[in-house]
Amino acid sequence: MSPVGQRPLSARGRSREGSRDSAAPLFSFHPDRKTKHMFKLTHPKLVTLAEAEGYADVVDFLEDHAQGCIVPAICMAPDCDHTAELEPDQRAGFCEACGRPSMKCGLVIAGMN
Ligand SMILES: [Zn+2]
Repeated sequence: MSPVGQRPLSARGRSREGSRDSAAPLFSFHPDRKTKHMFKLTHPKLVTLAEAEGYADVVDFLEDHAQGCIVPAICMAPDCDHTAELEPDQRAGFCEACGRPSMKCGLVIAGMN
């Protein structure tokens, strides 16, 4: 299985309760015992980012944003939890809060990008 695939531009803004059953889902993220070791779903920054975006579960957060062309990112500095929307593969984005190039996209933190 290859969770990192093509991301159509139209995927942005997809409703969580949308018509997922009308077509085969572009992306399915159901971690089992094996994939949980592949993805860092318990990374503190990832949990913080998911919560900042209103998700109680990191998996829901990743599932919603895995297809996005702009996705939430968080500053990886220990004393900064600034969030912003950046490119899905961003791993050294400029943080507007602390001025460091430490903004990392949630998908990158999870090990998906
Ligand atoms: Zn920062």
